[in-house]
Amino acid sequence: MTKKKRVLSGMRPTGPAHLGHLLGAFENWVAMQDDYETFYCIVDWHALTTDYADTSELPANTHELALDFLAVGLDPERSTLFVQSHVPQHAELHLLLSMVVPLPWLERVPTYKEQMTQLREKDLTTYGFLGYPLLQAADILIYRADTVPVGVDQQPHVELTREIARRFNHFYGPVLSEPEVKLTPTPKLPGTDGRKMSKSYGNTIGFAEDEASVRQKLKTMVTDPARIRRTDPGDPAKCPVFDLHEVFSSQETRKWAAEGCRTAGIGCIECKNALADALLARIEPIAKRRRELEKRPDDVRDVFREGDRRAREVAEATMADVRAAMHLPTEEDL
Ligand code: SF4
Repeated sequence: MTKKKRVLSGMRPTGPAHLGHLLGAFENWVAMQDDYETFYCIVDWHALTTDYADTSELPANTHELALDFLAVGLDPERSTLFVQSHVPQHAELHLLLSMVVPLPWLERVPTYKEQMTQLREKDLTTYGFLGYPLLQAADILIYRADTVPVGVDQQPHVELTREIARRFNHFYGPVLSEPEVKLTPTPKLPGTDGRKMSKSYGNTIGFAEDEASVRQKLKTMVTDPARIRRTDPGDPAKCPVFDLHEVFSSQETRKWAAEGCRTAGIGCIECKNALADALLARIEPIAKRRRELEKRPDDVRDVFREGDRRAREVAEATMADVRAAMHLPTEEDL
């Protein structure tokens, strides 16, 4: 039997997960469990790189994300599910790599400057924020991941990881392996205000939200701005509600909505109700599983405890090779 390729991916515990996470990451992660050896990580140290000033929510957010991991269908029988800070070897590799990575490599990462501008209200002139792509590289390299599933905006981070592995191997011998990028499709997913769905815009729909809240959010969601009265025909191509129909509704419903919109045959309320039905049908099984898991916190903890243990074992094997390659002194050297 050929050995499955290994995949590593992570998510920050920064608050309730939403449809953007479900479509942009989780559904891919679940599908990859069949063909890959999968390692999925709650990257709590990464959350600190931008949210270091108030860390009080970190334990609760980590627990919530652990529930999400299991509710969306990540299967501990097939995936190693763990918490980054429970595997301290990530920090050790980050430190050792920081000795060999030239500063300009980090300064030129596109998301570094972008986020600096976007998150102006936070002071991100920190060593940790500059180093977060390096921490990400350590996360990947420590598991000798073959493949990293990322959206196109994260691709430079994997390229950087490859460069770092090459530089390390050039100095110390062939220890780290270069991961491949697996580009994952990210469907257009607007939030309730029509901008990209994002926690920082406050326009998200959570996949564990109850029905009333989802329906209420869709009710007030922006539509084609030119369709002011019920009798005005609209253009689905200019309506974020229709973008969500594209993702969640059947072909038949999409056709009904598009035609009804263009001819003013249906009103926006009807159109949104049909979307709400389709969207709720997709997320209700997840929300239900999540509610069941909430009642069994010990089982959730056990899953992650076992995942942490397995992750530490793999990470420690890589670190033993890294330390030896870098001639770090052992007890026998004293
Ligand atoms: S009918 Fe539907 S697609 Fe058309 S503007 Fe209203 S919400 Fe948007």
